[in-house]
Amino acid sequence: MDVMHTAIEYLKGVGPERSRLLKEELNIQTYQDLLHFFPNRYIDRSKFYPINQLPNTSAEFQIKGIVTSIDFIKQKRGKRMVANFQDETGNMQLVWFRGYQWIKEGLKINQPYVIFGRINWFNGQASMPHPEMELESIFKQGLKAVFYPIYRSTEKLINKGVSQRVVQKLVANLLEKEPDLSETLPPYLLNHFKLISKKEALHQVHYPDNQNTLARAQARLKFEEFFYMQLQLILKNHQRKQKIKGHSFAEVGPVFKDFFKNYLPFTLTGAQKRVIKEIRTDLGSGRQMNRLLQGDVGSGKTIVALLSMLIAIDNDFQASLVAPTEILAQQHFQSLSTLLKGTDVQCALLTGSSTKKERIVIHEELEKGSLAILIGTHAIFEEKVQFKNLGLAIIDEQHRFGVAQRSKLWHKNKIPPHVLVMTATPIPRTLAMSIYGDLDSSVIDSLPPGRKPIKTLHRFDNNRLNVFAFIKEQIKLGRQVYIVYPLIQESETLDYKDLMDGYQSISRDFPKPKYQISIVHGKMKSDDKAYEMERFVKGKTQIMIATTVIEVGVNVSNASVMVIESAERFGLSQLHQLRGRVGRGSDQSYCILMSGSKLSEEGKTRLQTMVKTNDGFEIAEVDLRLRGPGNLMGTQQSGVLELKIADVIKDSSLLKVARDTAQQIIKKDPDFTGQEHQVIKRTLSSLKIDSNIWNFIS
Ligand code: ADP
Ligand code: MG
Repeated sequence: MDVMHTAIEYLKGVGPERSRLLKEELNIQTYQDLLHFFPNRYIDRSKFYPINQLPNTSAEFQIKGIVTSIDFIKQKRGKRMVANFQDETGNMQLVWFRGYQWIKEGLKINQPYVIFGRINWFNGQASMPHPEMELESIFKQGLKAVFYPIYRSTEKLINKGVSQRVVQKLVANLLEKEPDLSETLPPYLLNHFKLISKKEALHQVHYPDNQNTLARAQARLKFEEFFYMQLQLILKNHQRKQKIKGHSFAEVGPVFKDFFKNYLPFTLTGAQKRVIKEIRTDLGSGRQMNRLLQGDVGSGKTIVALLSMLIAIDNDFQASLVAPTEILAQQHFQSLSTLLKGTDVQCALLTGSSTKKERIVIHEELEKGSLAILIGTHAIFEEKVQFKNLGLAIIDEQHRFGVAQRSKLWHKNKIPPHVLVMTATPIPRTLAMSIYGDLDSSVIDSLPPGRKPIKTLHRFDNNRLNVFAFIKEQIKLGRQVYIVYPLIQESETLDYKDLMDGYQSISRDFPKPKYQISIVHGKMKSDDKAYEMERFVKGKTQIMIATTVIEVGVNVSNASVMVIESAERFGLSQLHQLRGRVGRGSDQSYCILMSGSKLSEEGKTRLQTMVKTNDGFEIAEVDLRLRGPGNLMGTQQSGVLELKIADVIKDSSLLKVARDTAQQIIKKDPDFTGQEHQVIKRTLSSLKIDSNIWNFIS
């Protein structure tokens, strides 16, 4: 067996207890895992921080000084030990809450120590709880390398004595064994990109000689990581196209043509036409389509979905459209029914609240094939729902569905249906490359003509009266208004109180009968919700007060004002989604972001970004920079979060190079038969690869 796969337990200094901890806390199980556990940062071992220059942040520092005295201080439970520690510039405290008896016995007063740890600040006084410390004389003996790697750690590891020092030691022990660190990239790539060898990179990344060698080590390891990530994604797409056959929709027939000529209510935009062509090409290719359709709110995805479904119907197939919520499914049903009025195409709605009677009819017509289009919620995924011949599955706002749920759709026909995933949440290009590197993608990048860009304003809470006056003006003009409140799970009770308080205050300022108000929130029964929505949609109420249930899809073109309360508490993409609820008609629309006067830097950036731009892609880029990839949709499944050293945001240009390289290689030598590619074949087979072909689909 490969030495690198040896269990970490057998490494000098580990043993069963530590190996369990390393596995639980850091997922380190083998030699290989430890070597690929890269430092977060480095500190220069030859440099010490003067106490009077410690910055007021909670970071880790290395300091040299002496302990002058030790005290015990009583606290609520037990006591703590406090040592006064000083250098030439000042003094600070070292603090222990546990194990102090043992530490006290070993501590040498007035002898130079090197300490390392996290600084806390309290009342202008710096302290370091549970420092790692070593007498300077001993520290000097251990000073082999200048740079000291600092690794990710956890509270538990520190409490159990697995300090930075211990991890450093373990890595050093492992490197000393001179393990066989075989190369994982073909020599011609190393030459071409001037990359250092794997072996050198691993040594240097843990114990760099200097800044320069460190940078080269990092570059080499990042490239490798991106390269294999992209290679796997592109291979997946390649293999899927070979392995999964698709229904061939050979012709665009009478149903499509009739609709296009006689029923299409507007002229398609250039972007819509282009996207339909892309879809059309996929559907006719004989391979299963697996396409992501991105288009900002209001860009006109619905008509693209419908025209694609008509192509399926022309080829004797059925189509389905799945939405994440009942309200959305209903809206889709309404707009598709309206569009299809007068044609022979049958469509039906299936949701959790469909009656038994309705279901029986739907099931029957679906199996017979007389029902061409089924629109619904996840109720469509149920086993009982069987199609005669499902050829196209469209999924709206896909991030609300899990992979497992979606895969149920693929099994509704012998050959899986074509899949079109629609999303109004733009995905930044860099991220799209890493998450959906295996999907084909289409983008509707322009809005239908005649739209006036939404004007976005930021107002503080103390300006509320002006905002109310503005709302009254708009209502006078016959427009409708949304007022949205945040609803965050952790503070649900408080949030409901805010919503109800808001409702009461607005009811006072907008009295009946002149003004009518709808309210919709998650705690209402779905009948009541539907009733309130309906009143607003029909124009019977002028104001809709809601939590974020209206976030996706709701379409009332007469609504021209979106007021978002406590806007600083919403994420950027959510704000953008909410804003997309207005500006759907030809009137000038407004989005008013209300906030308190105290804003965090990040909150300020979010609101400023919203005021500055309406472009969903630009907003998505800012969001990615602010929050990192971890919180964005789709990243959980994608593996970008498992990247050990590369960073899709900071290293995006390297990502592009790695992707292009991977693409070229697969184009030239998809089975890696070339001698120079044996190393790739070997490396790929040692990676854990998900071989479930169904996961290959979206
Ligand atoms: P979304 O992409 O958010 O789902 P919709 O498909 O709901 O957008 O379209 C938004 C609005 O724009 C709808 O009222 C729709 O009828 C209208 N629309 C779509 N395409 C066009 C077009 N090419 N010209 C004019 N109006 C359009
Ligand atoms: Mg839509």
